[in-house]
Amino acid sequence: MEVIKTVDELRARLAREHDVCCVPTMGNIHDGHLSLVKIAAQTASVSLTTIFVNRLQFGQGEDFERYPRTFEEDCAKLEAVGNKIVFHPDEQQMYPEPQAFFIDPPKVAKKLEGRFRQGHFRGVCTVVLKLFNAVQPQSAVFGKKDYQQLAIIRHMVDQFALPICIIPAETVRAGDGLALSSRNRYLSEAERKEAPRLREAILQIRDAINEGDRKFVAMEYAAGALLSRHGWNVDYVVVRTQRGLKRPSPDDSDLVILGAATLGSTRLIDNLEVVAP
Ligand code: AMP
Repeated sequence: MEVIKTVDELRARLAREHDVCCVPTMGNIHDGHLSLVKIAAQTASVSLTTIFVNRLQFGQGEDFERYPRTFEEDCAKLEAVGNKIVFHPDEQQMYPEPQAFFIDPPKVAKKLEGRFRQGHFRGVCTVVLKLFNAVQPQSAVFGKKDYQQLAIIRHMVDQFALPICIIPAETVRAGDGLALSSRNRYLSEAERKEAPRLREAILQIRDAINEGDRKFVAMEYAAGALLSRHGWNVDYVVVRTQRGLKRPSPDDSDLVILGAATLGSTRLIDNLEVVAP
């Protein structure tokens, strides 16, 4: 596996490649990331994983400084699933001077995650565009775990007519249902036992929808209350349309349940698509 650290080297290496699939990550690679890399390796002749902890997408008081950086272990895991190239730029490569131009994402980026993490998607879109420009891939894989991010990136690629096919990947979970995340390592033993309840609260809503219940606000309230009773600080547990992440009207059937809540000092997110009967 090749490790490349500068944009110039990357450009030289990829000059004759016409089938590159990119997996942008912040590292601390787990099986969720690896499932994306496997898709990339099956999709294209060159699978290229980027590892860069992007300061721009962290708000004040968030975990940029303490975000786990585990480059050596990450490389071993990536190599084991057949990843071809790792692009691992440092801060100087990505931001040689303070970033002055930004992608200003549309209104959808202000709700849900955007409401609780102001400027987050502006930072995400800006770095993803820079990474796309550096790599110039034909395709890129993003996880549904970050559902709103996937929707915003797809919209950005579409509106800027970037010639990149965005491939969505299903969320990979631990045996007890907890979505894998680099942030799970912050959980204490007791919190780790409690953590699958976020998924359970989402499943409770899914079951109600599958039984024909359409009282979404009541379901959202009950799911949030369940988490609060167990010590969570709930940002949101809501039902939205898959397209546009809007409040569903009675004839919408393609829905997604999204949740974000903090346990101790660790903020977790999860979601589940559901097709209402
Ligand atoms: P991150 O390193 O957290 O920025 O994530 C990099 C990519 O991996 C994003 O596209 C995420 O949506 C995806 N990802 C993170 N966790 C999971 C998971 N448990 N299952 C599938 N994809 C994931």
